[in-house]
Amino acid sequence: MYDFDMIVIGSGPSGRRAAVQSAKIGKSVLVVEKGRRVGGVSVHTGTIPSKTLRETVLNLSGWRERGFYGRSYRVKQDIGAADLMARLHKTLDHEVEVLEHQFARNAVKTARGEARFLDAHTIEITAEGGEVDKVTAAHVLIAVGTRPFRPDYVPFNGMSVFDSDEIVDLPRLPRSLAVIGAGVIGVEYASIFSALDVSVTLIEPRSTFLDFIDKELIEEFVHELRDRNVALRFGAAVTSITLDARERPVCKLADGRTVHADMLLFAAGRVGATDRLNLEAAGLAVDHRGRIGVEPKTLQTAVPHIYAAGDVIGFPSLASTSMEQGRVAACHAFGLEPPPPPEFFPYGIYSVPEMSTVGMSEEEVRKREIPYECGIARFRETSRGHIMGLNSGMMKMIFSVKTRRLLGVHIVGEGATELIHIGQAVLNLKGTIDYFIENTFNYPTLAEAYKIAGLDAWNRMTRV
Ligand SMILES: Cc1cc2nc3c(=O)[nH]c(=O)nc-3n(C[C@H](O)[C@H](O)[C@H](O)COP(=O)(O)OP(=O)(O)OC[C@H]3O[C@@H](n4cnc5c(N)ncnc54)[C@H](O)[C@@H]3O)c2cc1C
Repeated sequence: MYDFDMIVIGSGPSGRRAAVQSAKIGKSVLVVEKGRRVGGVSVHTGTIPSKTLRETVLNLSGWRERGFYGRSYRVKQDIGAADLMARLHKTLDHEVEVLEHQFARNAVKTARGEARFLDAHTIEITAEGGEVDKVTAAHVLIAVGTRPFRPDYVPFNGMSVFDSDEIVDLPRLPRSLAVIGAGVIGVEYASIFSALDVSVTLIEPRSTFLDFIDKELIEEFVHELRDRNVALRFGAAVTSITLDARERPVCKLADGRTVHADMLLFAAGRVGATDRLNLEAAGLAVDHRGRIGVEPKTLQTAVPHIYAAGDVIGFPSLASTSMEQGRVAACHAFGLEPPPPPEFFPYGIYSVPEMSTVGMSEEEVRKREIPYECGIARFRETSRGHIMGLNSGMMKMIFSVKTRRLLGVHIVGEGATELIHIGQAVLNLKGTIDYFIENTFNYPTLAEAYKIAGLDAWNRMTRV
């Protein structure tokens, strides 16, 4: 009756997972992607480019060795934009190749062009050259993601003023950079450029940032940024952005201060890429930020055979969670019971230093009036930390005094985004402090911090 069992619009993490899962169940699948190559924001402008840039910066700048050899240590002198781009393009090519192979192996068909609904089962695809095709499907997954929010008052020019999709194609390295927006993306780029010794000013209209993260962790992180001379301009809105005679951005703030910089990154939000989907034809609507509402367990939209997943449905807007959502949507569409979502998922913030967190923050635990105790470990207390020359890095664990259960793990420092998974496993398996006290950890490792923080909390809990 239909051309396909499933049409997926968008080939980012959620679209990709949904397509492959549907194909594994034996269904016919078409992925429509308007970009030049498959992979989505995640592969081409978001997750993978920013993380590759970070890795390149840390390697070429010798960042990880500076604890031993001093702040002036460099692996490569005079790092330029070309140095950063070389590794980026190699990594992206590899990612796309793996994905194309995965689609080919699973007989997932792809069509290049922009998709829009003609009705709830019919999609029109317009190719770059203008050719139009029409396809139908029993089920549709909207996985179109987001694009950067570009307000009119920002003079984007692709030369000195960029959004977060454009920054991965920098023509040259700036001497100074102003970053507007201290969300995850703004904080990541601000700290990455500062590791390259670019003079960075981070501007945020609110007086706090990354509020979902434990405050003690943020204090530690802010201390590190200040130590590197990152200027923080918090608590004042940007009233205007102009370009000077040399096309350099000048930002005026509501508190009367002015920030001059060589380049500007505007990273204050993203909006759902839904405006050209003609959703009304399918009977769907979006909110003020272009996002689509779904039933959280099944990811069905208001039209039951149309699903939406990934950033287009909003929080938590991570590649990691988007992948799971894609798989859940595909399973539900074809009558398979998807696994229940885990109670806690980790956040990874690939700033320099990186941060990662899972479970409740201390503020949350207090709000819920759960009697608790914390344990802290500093990476410099571990032998592995000495070997690596780490002067900073911290792990904080929170336990319930009543049940002894682990409630949250918060890490800032080298390896945080990998280390967090030990805490995540214990948390989701409803483990207690005894796991950390009774078990032996490899030595010397940074994971030993779990033992140290566990013992720290245990000593205080024993006294209680
Ligand atoms: C700078 C940055 C850093 C990030 N870092 C991380 C990180 O470290 N870890 C993490 O987990 N997440 C990270 N994210 C978030 C992550 O990239 C997103 O959560 C993820 O990409 C969302 O996936 P998605 O499935 O919604 O699709 P997306 O990756 O958003 O891709 C959507 C695709 O749909 C296509 N499309 C849109 N409209 C149409 C149409 N009408 N027809 C056809 N195709 C269409 C687009 O071209 C695009 O390819 C980062 C994001 C950014 C911007």
